Amino acid sequence: MADKSPQTPRASASADACASAAPSASAPASAAPSASAPAGAAPRTSASAPRTPDFAAFRDPALARELIDAINRTVTSAGRPLNLMEVCGTHTMSIGRYGFRSVMPAGLTLLSGPGCPVCVTANEDIDRAIALARVPGVTVTTFGDMMRVPGSATTLAAEKAAGADVRMVYSPTDALDLAEREPARQVAFIAVGFETTAPAIAATVLEAEARSLANFTVFCAHKTTPPALRAIADDPETRIDGFILPGHVSTITGLAPYRFLVEEFGIPGVVTGFEPVDILASVELLCRMAARGEARIENAYQRGVAQNGNPVARALVDQVFEPCDAVWRGLGTLPASGLALREEFAGFDARRRFAAELDELTVPTREPAGCRCGDVLRGAIAPSGCPLFGRVCTPEHPVGPCMVSSEGSCAAYFRYRE
Ligand code: SF4
Repeated sequence: MADKSPQTPRASASADACASAAPSASAPASAAPSASAPAGAAPRTSASAPRTPDFAAFRDPALARELIDAINRTVTSAGRPLNLMEVCGTHTMSIGRYGFRSVMPAGLTLLSGPGCPVCVTANEDIDRAIALARVPGVTVTTFGDMMRVPGSATTLAAEKAAGADVRMVYSPTDALDLAEREPARQVAFIAVGFETTAPAIAATVLEAEARSLANFTVFCAHKTTPPALRAIADDPETRIDGFILPGHVSTITGLAPYRFLVEEFGIPGVVTGFEPVDILASVELLCRMAARGEARIENAYQRGVAQNGNPVARALVDQVFEPCDAVWRGLGTLPASGLALREEFAGFDARRRFAAELDELTVPTREPAGCRCGDVLRGAIAPSGCPLFGRVCTPEHPVGPCMVSSEGSCAAYFRYRE
């Protein structure tokens, strides 16, 4: 009996069979990455099985093995080296955790790109966030990763140890509640992230307005992914044959913002999830497209990403934020790649409310000596190509942000000994 469960992942031992079963952008959102099952990759669920995602199947060793074999054949047939890049910190960690780089064929390189929001935050933004903690009466709130990221002279954690009021929170709402509890303090939330976290920040600003909180501000260093992809696709030093596109970000954006990769650069992209079979299926599909000279944007994460993303979340972001030029570590200033609070929310903008104090207290920016984070983030070198990697720079004593963040490439390479 033919399996009718759309959530069961299946691999194809045949590249052509896989081609005909390539994820379709028009397929149901719950569909699996590939839909052609060879005998050796029989469905692991029956038609009578509950229609809930079978996550164990996405970690099936037999399917993974078949996909690795298919990748080997495809790369061999390409007849040239292929470079793929993931642009999501969670993908970076998954690829490291499952040891995929060590099992890829010699002709295939998996590069890590600018997928870690803390890592791509420019030193000048980190310096200004640290300066904010020195403004009298200000309480700085932030997620854990930002506490240890080194700026030009110090860190938020060091400022806290020196007496500044810096507090770690688990959500922007925690910061909002703190502002309500402590009206005598100015509570500023350091907002760093991509499209995934921007809706929560936008909702928090609207909630602050609804609560009439005059002592809550956001220091926004948010960024959007497509301009960074464009910069990398346009970089003659980094020849990318395909992008493993971010699953989380795409839940918000959908697929449309990636079309330019195909139309302007002829580079394919595959939105994918985070399980082993997700990642291997996307690698196989990208290799197959690259080998054939094809370029499409495919959705291999249809159980999580709808074609049009989340329009409600995007509307929320558009209501509160507007695009602005932003400086990325390693990529420089990218037009319209950041998010700034709109004029009507200027009262919640820490950059504007404390502009004079920040100008006075921010130290001159300088990059960490010897750190190659910029080159790592644009895929010019692997973390192990940095002379400081694992010697001077470790997770216990990080020199650059890519070794601090749990999603940083250097931290992933160190942790999984890549
Ligand atoms: Fe920067 Fe450390 Fe990574 Fe080198 S190993 S690029 S110093 S974070």
